[in-house]
Amino acid sequence: MATGRISARVGSIAPSATLAVDAKAKALKAAGEPVIGFGAGEPDFPTPDYIVEAAVAACRNPRNHKYSPAGGLPELKEAIAAKTLRDSGYKVEPSQIVVTNGGKHAVYNAFAGLIDPGDEVLIPTPYWTTYPEPVKLAGGVPVEVPTDISSGFKATIEQLEAARTPQTKALVFVSPSNPSGAVYSKEQIEVIGQWAVDTGIWVVTDEIYEHLVYGDNVFHSMPTLVPEIADRCIVLNGVAKTYAMTGWRVGWLIAPADMAKALTSLQSHQTSNVANVAQMAALAAVSGDLTAVDMMREAFDRRRKIMFSMLSDMNGVSVIEPEGAFYAFPSFEGAIGRTIGGVTIDSTITLADTILEQAKVAFVPGEAFGSPGYGRFSFALGDDDMVEGLRRIGEFLA
Ligand code: PMP
Repeated sequence: MATGRISARVGSIAPSATLAVDAKAKALKAAGEPVIGFGAGEPDFPTPDYIVEAAVAACRNPRNHKYSPAGGLPELKEAIAAKTLRDSGYKVEPSQIVVTNGGKHAVYNAFAGLIDPGDEVLIPTPYWTTYPEPVKLAGGVPVEVPTDISSGFKATIEQLEAARTPQTKALVFVSPSNPSGAVYSKEQIEVIGQWAVDTGIWVVTDEIYEHLVYGDNVFHSMPTLVPEIADRCIVLNGVAKTYAMTGWRVGWLIAPADMAKALTSLQSHQTSNVANVAQMAALAAVSGDLTAVDMMREAFDRRRKIMFSMLSDMNGVSVIEPEGAFYAFPSFEGAIGRTIGGVTIDSTITLADTILEQAKVAFVPGEAFGSPGYGRFSFALGDDDMVEGLRRIGEFLA
């Protein structure tokens, strides 16, 4: 007998909570409500002009009206290899690169390439919502490794070792992190990378926020610090965050050549090439300098400080200063159990719903990231909106 209408695998996928919060806030705003949204995971800047101009020129070139190699335009792969050496000190060949429809697609394909049914993947919490789902879709088992504010949201080698079993296939490693804003130190990355080498575990390392680090924090790429991991490492990256190009949908993965070849075959049946015009825009982005991201980083850094200080002052909230990306991840433990605005706050889901309803401010509750009790606040929004939104939450919690 045939099974249900929707397959068990797809039917069990949770919708993206971050996109849902963002959509709800935008819908309320469109209906005339004065909503301020902290949900967005995207820069509030337009894509720099020189990138847009490259796309316009690409539209006019008939070559770009046709199919191109499924794994990416050769000149873009060359440029990504050069950019990876420039920014991470990691020397890779174009044959190790697969250009994908955004970083999300790279995440899916990485796990499709790695996971057989029953394989386990270690995912430190709080995690970006998109990691567990593709692991499950591939028949794998996401294994949460909990971190909290007391460790600065950084997993230790002891925790990883305790979670490891004979079925462990891979570790997800993200620094700077969405949603915690944590940036691992050079020493911490070396220790974790060496542990992965010694235990034979793959590392899927997401470097999409590489250029967004603040203060004394420095981005380090694991396969550069621990070259022995390169043969079992997949690097995820893309143009979305660095060049304010979330809507263009260009990302990539860097893998050992055999994995990259297999994933190119997968992609040849799955999506074929990423839109050529978007690839040509990405080519202009990664071949150019980093002036645009320097400007954005300055704005984010200013907002980060304001946000940290305003969250720190709120009743029942504890927060650490974000080290990278564009998110703060405060704990609301002190608000749980209180009755505010006539509602008993029994979880951060209830808190987020109540704050959206009563204070007209949207943020993503920690439950979406495997960390109940917390909330994610993007500081990729205008200064005035940010200050007003935080003021309203402070007033709500007072
Ligand atoms: N990795 C992380 C950690 C992210 O936060 C995001 C975007 N939210 C991505 C990857 C993917 O970005 P995109 O698919 O837009 O390239």
